[in-house]
Amino acid sequence: MMVARTRGELAEALARLRGDGRAVALVPTMGALHAGHLELVRLAAGHGAPVASIFVNPTQFAAGEDFARYPRDTDGDLAKLAGAGCAAAWLPDVAEMYPPGDATLIEVAGPALGFEGAARPTHFRGVATVVAKLFGQVRPEAAVFGEKDWQQLQVIRRMVADLLLSVRIVAAPIVREADGLAMSSRNRYLSPAERAAAPALPLVLQRAAAAVKQNAGAALEDAVRALREAGFAPDYVALVDGPTMRPLPAAAEGARLIAAARLGAVRLLDNIAVR
Ligand code: AMP
Repeated sequence: MMVARTRGELAEALARLRGDGRAVALVPTMGALHAGHLELVRLAAGHGAPVASIFVNPTQFAAGEDFARYPRDTDGDLAKLAGAGCAAAWLPDVAEMYPPGDATLIEVAGPALGFEGAARPTHFRGVATVVAKLFGQVRPEAAVFGEKDWQQLQVIRRMVADLLLSVRIVAAPIVREADGLAMSSRNRYLSPAERAAAPALPLVLQRAAAAVKQNAGAALEDAVRALREAGFAPDYVALVDGPTMRPLPAAAEGARLIAAARLGAVRLLDNIAVR
């Protein structure tokens, strides 16, 4: 696996991949990689030479969030990426991504409004900005994003459509632990007791996904109650139109059940299709 830490090294790595006539499939990450990220790399391999970026992006963290203490494990990450068949890793530093005097951010509305956009008002602007920069640097034919961050995936699709970018966005299904908890770099912050309680979130969503077909309002209320009983402080449980993130009054084609709930200091996200 090639490892690029400067723009020059990235250009060299991309030239080598493209010289072999290969398309490039980008997997943007913030590192602290787990099996979920590695599935994205494997999926990317079906669309081109997988190139993973590792960059903890300051602009998607608000003041007081965990930017400084976000888990970082570059050596471990590189070993995992190589093991998963990644062709190249791109590890830019902050000055590379945000040149001195930088004055450009990408404003996103539509699917970025509400839910995570309400809880973290500058978050998706930071995500969209850094993903656009990564697309500009790597110019991938495809890019893979996880359904774990459902709203983020919709924001990226919207941005690609609106900025007329010619990158194919590939969605990767959520990778879960054996007990159903969606894998996340932040799961390591759960205490043993919290970790034991955490699988209630996917379980409650699974039940609610069946119940919303009868009575959506009652199903969402029941879900919030069940999460509280399991020790969570729910931020939201909502039924939305998958691509637009607009709340739905009843189950419909393309509906998604999304939830965010805090367990102690850790905020967990999950979502499930309503079929
Ligand atoms: P992150 O490093 O948290 O920014 O995540 C990088 C990418 O991995 C994003 O597209 C996430 O949606 C995706 N991802 C993270 N966890 C999972 C998971 N458990 N299953 C599928 N994709 C995931």
